[in-house]
Amino acid sequence: MTRLIFLGAPGAGKGTQAQALAQEYGIPHISTGDILRGAVANKTELGLKAKSYMDAGELVPDQLMLDLVRDRLSSEDVKAGWILDGFPRTVGQAKFLDMLLEEIHQSCSHVINFDVPDEDLVARLLGRGRVDDTDAVIRNRLAVYHEQTAPLIDFYSDRGQLISIDGSQSVEAIGSTLRQTLGSSSEIKSAS
Ligand code: AMP
Repeated sequence: MTRLIFLGAPGAGKGTQAQALAQEYGIPHISTGDILRGAVANKTELGLKAKSYMDAGELVPDQLMLDLVRDRLSSEDVKAGWILDGFPRTVGQAKFLDMLLEEIHQSCSHVINFDVPDEDLVARLLGRGRVDDTDAVIRNRLAVYHEQTAPLIDFYSDRGQLISIDGSQSVEAIGSTLRQTLGSSSEIKSAS
């Protein structure tokens, strides 16, 4: 059973890799950023509450995120496995996820960290041209990442769950490193 958490700064390329790998394995790619952008576009209650935080490059408050993830991981299609992209983003969210997974009798196989230097991230994000990717917002998103999300690297590596991948390579090179890494894990091998 493939259940993976993709960790990394904004612009680290985890979304691109998650999407391709999820398609290959035939499992859902759960991107909390995509779900939130959909909610904003559809002007749902969640979207209206989340929009100002997203526009400023801040994290959406945990309470909204926890409800969203609980709902998503309770759906039928996630029974075959999943790739979580963009969640957890705080130690509080990671602890919540531990509890939730225990409650729904699931466990995460690996946490993949995409490691990219800040200079590369800024260049990539500016090039991406998304509405929440203006210069000031990008810098804030990176500051928020270092302050609130980067501690998850130690959180998961202390538990022996973390695999770090050099995310400064090309999309193709990262993809092949990722597949090699996963291929050498017997747990993933037996599931695929
Ligand atoms: P992303 O596409 O993952 O970069 O997410 C875009 C924006 O959605 C972020 O800048 C946050 O404002 C919000 N967001 C996505 N995932 C989370 C999360 N796990 N916790 C809090 N905010 C989130």
